[in-house]
Amino acid sequence: MGKTIINIAVIGGGLGGLATAIALRRAGHNVTVYEGADELAEVGAGIQVPPNTSRLLDAYGLFDRFAKKVVWPANINMRRYSSGDIIGPTPLKPKMQELYGYPYWLIHRADYQRLLFDAAIEAGANVILGARVNGVDDSTITVHLENGKVEKFDLIIGADGIRSNVRLAVMPNEEVLPRVSTNCAYRATVPAAKMRADPKVSFLMDDPNSNCWIGYRRHIMAYPIRNGELYNLVMSHPGAAAVGRWNEPGNLEEMKTHYRHFDPTIRRVLEKVDNCLKWTLADLPVLSNWVSPSGRICLIGDAAHAMLPYLAQGAAQAVEDGATLGELLTDIKSVDEIPALLGLYEKIRRPRCEIIQKGAYENGDIWHMPDGETQVQRDLGMKGQLPAGAKNPNQWGDGNFQPWLFGHNAITEARKRLGEFRKGSEQNGTEVARL
Ligand SMILES: Cc1cc2nc3c(=O)[nH]c(=O)nc-3n(C[C@H](O)[C@H](O)[C@H](O)COP(=O)(O)OP(=O)(O)OC[C@H]3O[C@@H](n4cnc5c(N)ncnc54)[C@H](O)[C@@H]3O)c2cc1C
Repeated sequence: MGKTIINIAVIGGGLGGLATAIALRRAGHNVTVYEGADELAEVGAGIQVPPNTSRLLDAYGLFDRFAKKVVWPANINMRRYSSGDIIGPTPLKPKMQELYGYPYWLIHRADYQRLLFDAAIEAGANVILGARVNGVDDSTITVHLENGKVEKFDLIIGADGIRSNVRLAVMPNEEVLPRVSTNCAYRATVPAAKMRADPKVSFLMDDPNSNCWIGYRRHIMAYPIRNGELYNLVMSHPGAAAVGRWNEPGNLEEMKTHYRHFDPTIRRVLEKVDNCLKWTLADLPVLSNWVSPSGRICLIGDAAHAMLPYLAQGAAQAVEDGATLGELLTDIKSVDEIPALLGLYEKIRRPRCEIIQKGAYENGDIWHMPDGETQVQRDLGMKGQLPAGAKNPNQWGDGNFQPWLFGHNAITEARKRLGEFRKGSEQNGTEVARL
């Protein structure tokens, strides 16, 4: 049987939805992305792009375009909150290329979204902005738009974020709400000129690293973005943002008070912040299923596995989800195969995402310890002074976790698993569609 071209709706044009649209267009399918916002609306903050993502961007032919917009950091430096002393570095440049073949990058979210948006359009996806989806129907595989239109597809992908409404069709008997953490994040950027004008902080621009000052119940992750035009700060601290608002303006004095015991260097940077946003940090509990009862609607990205940002992998996993779907659907023979292939998608992706979700949660506990003996032991561990067989508390630097996390190739993994799946179905004398 020859390949079938299917019609796919992607609900949500965030980083996950757009990357998925690229992968599905490369697989030769018709793709419509419905994005509720009237314009590309990623926040003015940074995001880390690990090698498990840069590898996929390269596979999509986007390496050079990204390389022009990013910063290539030398290390992720875990730093003592009070002194700024480096507790444990994770070498990135050139180590990530040497070990895994691809770099670790830092980018502005708006640049990331724009690059993916342009690439999705060029690849032939129909990306519609200002197209809010009220709901999707699992019995008819239809998208119901706020403007009253109803559109029918072969497959619908919910890439609509942590507060997904596509999830209601995937899990019709249960409304899953985000698990709001006890921490909030301030997000801010400082222009390079301001950073460079201060000799005590200019080294943060000249020697680019991801620096993470960790202390009791709070940390600051900071790095340059946009080819060194801005210094980006994510400041996690105890607190809550106003109910229903996930992106409210933060109070600068309150922000500085939270970090009054921190390293004088980073406090000098905070003095240069003119405004910040305050953001509730949340994740999702493990979902019972990612695929709807009909087998024709599935979830990706934060809609399926929103995680705390403490491993910097949320968007990376959304991009991997999309790459997996693209590969699984490349040679689809009939629409009847969709349920089995989505089942395989969930089977491939769920264990990996759940481990990362858990690892991100654990980093909150590891990083936010009070000073004391346990913290001293943690710091020794991060410095590499570990008892034989012990896990490095700096998960990015752990000898087993790092290659599993950064060395992963979502495309080859999907290809391998699809091959096994098809072989298994041949041996059973069943077609994929009937599995
Ligand atoms: C402080 C912080 C730092 C982070 N740092 C990193 C990092 O360094 N690296 C990393 O990989 N990840 C990081 N993450 C996680 C990452 O931002 C998310 O995992 C990722 O953006 C999720 O992408 P998504 O496309 O799944 O969802 P979203 O980005 O939430 O996109 C969903 C899209 O769907 C649209 N939408 C929603 N509902 C509808 C509807 N009904 N109709 C139409 N459109 C709709 C929205 O407008 C939005 O554009 C961080 C997160 C936070 C909070």
